[in-house]
Amino acid sequence: MTGGTEPTMSGPDDHTPRTPGWTCGTCGADWPCATKRARLLEEYGLDRATLSVYLGSCLAAASQDLRASPGGLLQDRFIGWLPRPRRGH
Ligand SMILES: [Zn+2]
Repeated sequence: MTGGTEPTMSGPDDHTPRTPGWTCGTCGADWPCATKRARLLEEYGLDRATLSVYLGSCLAAASQDLRASPGGLLQDRFIGWLPRPRRGH
């Protein structure tokens, strides 16, 4: 890693979503792109609940913008990639 982990709200390398297409503004992949996913996991760490809430609000906004896409597909794209918390039972 390169160090320098200060949070920057808007950099050219920020991988923020570009609306209304919800593609990554940095790499052009469907958002959240692989890089952004890795960063979110890093950023939120164990606080998966907050991350889910954040992604849920992104999903809600994206489903307004991408009404042509099936909801299940979007849900899979925005939330389905999250590692499932292990539940003992
Ligand atoms: Zn990206």
